[in-house]
Amino acid sequence: MKEFISVNNKHAAPYEFYAHGFEPNSEIPARVSEIERVLIEQKVGELIYPDKFSQVPRELLEKIHDPAYVAFILESAKREQREIPENKYRYPTSFPYRRSNRVPNNDVGALGYYSIDTYTPVHEDLTDAALVSASGAYSAAVDILHGGNTSYSIGRPPGHHAGYDYMGGYCYFNNAMVAVETLREKGKVAILDVDFHHGNGTHDILDMQRMIDVADPDLMFPYFSGKKRMFEKPECFNYPLPLGVTNEQYDAILQRTLRRINDFNPYSLVVSIGYDTYKDDPIGGFQLTTDYYERMARQIMELKKPTVFIQEGGYNVAAIGHNARSFIKGTE
Ligand SMILES: [Zn+2]
Repeated sequence: MKEFISVNNKHAAPYEFYAHGFEPNSEIPARVSEIERVLIEQKVGELIYPDKFSQVPRELLEKIHDPAYVAFILESAKREQREIPENKYRYPTSFPYRRSNRVPNNDVGALGYYSIDTYTPVHEDLTDAALVSASGAYSAAVDILHGGNTSYSIGRPPGHHAGYDYMGGYCYFNNAMVAVETLREKGKVAILDVDFHHGNGTHDILDMQRMIDVADPDLMFPYFSGKKRMFEKPECFNYPLPLGVTNEQYDAILQRTLRRINDFNPYSLVVSIGYDTYKDDPIGGFQLTTDYYERMARQIMELKKPTVFIQEGGYNVAAIGHNARSFIKGTE
């Protein structure tokens, strides 16, 4: 398997704002560099770095996202602002009234307009990081189009909370959808999202046109989506799970999900993989163990489909490398 690695060191917001105050940011470069360290130490796979990536075409980003939103990330988010003269991360603070469709003609207003929360600050270095991360996903999918069987984009920022015209949950461009749009030229694509959190952005972009399977809890970020009753459609399934889910409980749902994908019979599969389902994840709430990720991957591989894995969450830096190593072992 080829691993497309993008650490994106320059994108490193120092803190995030959660409910009662500022906290150290969980979405940091060490999440990816620790996976890289373990894979190098254990001589796993074929690591490919951004200088060898294919650049994601802007037209492809504009198929997934609102072109005005793409322009905001690529151009407006990057430029210096009158209101914030220093080179600092800018956090959204003003959000639109519900049902408002007018994009404010003001930088602070536009940042809030394109955000669903305060976890996606922008900065001049964010633009490059978001593009490189999307390009990792694009390159991983191109590798499949060229005859590869499995590839894994291990990048950040993650993507599955980024919707048609909004960022959120540390996500700016939807990397999984970049892979889906790339693979679609060869046939039906299924998406399996096994991050701890609901892939609300992926769901938003798909607009429930194609299949998405999500095993997800009911009570955590992004709060407003992922509820089974809201999204049950013939080709779209959510499986909200309670906090504290064990390997065995999770596995029963995973098997049911994989049977549905098998029935759907796609040409290829895109998997949003998040290790925030790990038992000691600081912002998760499940009880999955490192060994389980190998079992999870092995079952996904039994579908026998060309598969692109996309890195989403996973915030226990000490464990993330070993969790990724275990998962990759299951694909071998
Ligand atoms: Zn997550």
